[in-house]
Amino acid sequence: MTFRAVRADKTDAGQTVGFVDMDDAELMDGDVTIRVTHSTVNYKDGLTLSGKSAVIRRFPMVLGIDLAGVVETSRRPDFAPGDEVILNGHGLSETHFGGYAEKARVNGDWLIKLPAGLTRAEAMAIGTAGYTAMLALMAIERQGLTPSSGPALVTGAAGGVGSTAISLLADKGWKVIASTGRASESEYLKGLGAAEIIERATLSAPGKPLGKEQWAAAVDSVGSTTLANVLAQTRYGGAVAACGLAGGMDLPTTVAPFILRGVTLVGIDSVHCPTPRRLEAWRRLAAELDRAKLAAMTETIPFDAVFDAGARILKGETRGRLVVTIP
Ligand code: NDP
Repeated sequence: MTFRAVRADKTDAGQTVGFVDMDDAELMDGDVTIRVTHSTVNYKDGLTLSGKSAVIRRFPMVLGIDLAGVVETSRRPDFAPGDEVILNGHGLSETHFGGYAEKARVNGDWLIKLPAGLTRAEAMAIGTAGYTAMLALMAIERQGLTPSSGPALVTGAAGGVGSTAISLLADKGWKVIASTGRASESEYLKGLGAAEIIERATLSAPGKPLGKEQWAAAVDSVGSTTLANVLAQTRYGGAVAACGLAGGMDLPTTVAPFILRGVTLVGIDSVHCPTPRRLEAWRRLAAELDRAKLAAMTETIPFDAVFDAGARILKGETRGRLVVTIP
């Protein structure tokens, strides 16, 4: 039996990416085989789908950093045929075949049983981006910060990490300031819980080492000069969760926010996040994320539309989250 997959191959002429038919014998090693029903398009998927990124670390590679599906066969006692499972990170689409395929075979240690209260489609509407937003919230809370500490800033607000972060923070009682380059999305962002909208441009130009103290916490998807400005305007004792690089990989900052205001910069990694924290994040997402807001931030696309969606996310033209249904 063959199954369809989006695969990147490397030839002397460079990378090629496209739909291919594969069979079970081509799947990678693993002790659980899954019939994939849903995946997602994250920013990182946009990069790999473009055929130009350095994210992929071995070829050929099946793309897609997230998957949800049903166990078909298992060589482990903790997973049985019919179990609903999700998987994100753990090198999918980098070193191990990912979710853009009708079938996946993986190491069962990476799998999470579908959290109670979530459908597979909802789990993928959350996906890596939403789970990263929860990791960011948990990191901020670990710093002892609460809504009474002051407002929380979210940059890249209309994106996947940003939209979920706004919803989670606002529902916990934080006053959320949303930074976006798309004024047209103001009503959408307010609907998710943003109390104030600021223009992306106010944070993207080079600024001073220290600015007026504004927010107690921040979830940043943008990096670069934006993150430097976010740090410079964080209140005394505040914390910034660095999640992404949509604006650039560099960080042109000074030590001033750290040594003069005791600001903490917390790194967020979703891919190799240890299992206990990963399980806690998914448990909290199932319990705390407002389903109506999740639906409002989600667009569902067919498998055939992943390339178009990948191009749109790189251009900053998508809003919230993209779920892919795998036929
Ligand atoms: P999205 O593309 O959905 O969101 C990114 C948002 O950033 C856009 O919607 C846009 O928001 C803003 N943006 C885009 N381009 C620029 C730019 N040039 N300058 C400033 N802002 C920009 O991506 P995701 O939410 O999926 O991911 C966000 C970032 O987080 C990515 O860099 C991704 O690689 C990273 N990430 C990291 C993870 C980790 O483990 N650390 C896990 C998941 C994601 P707006 O239009 O509102 O301004």
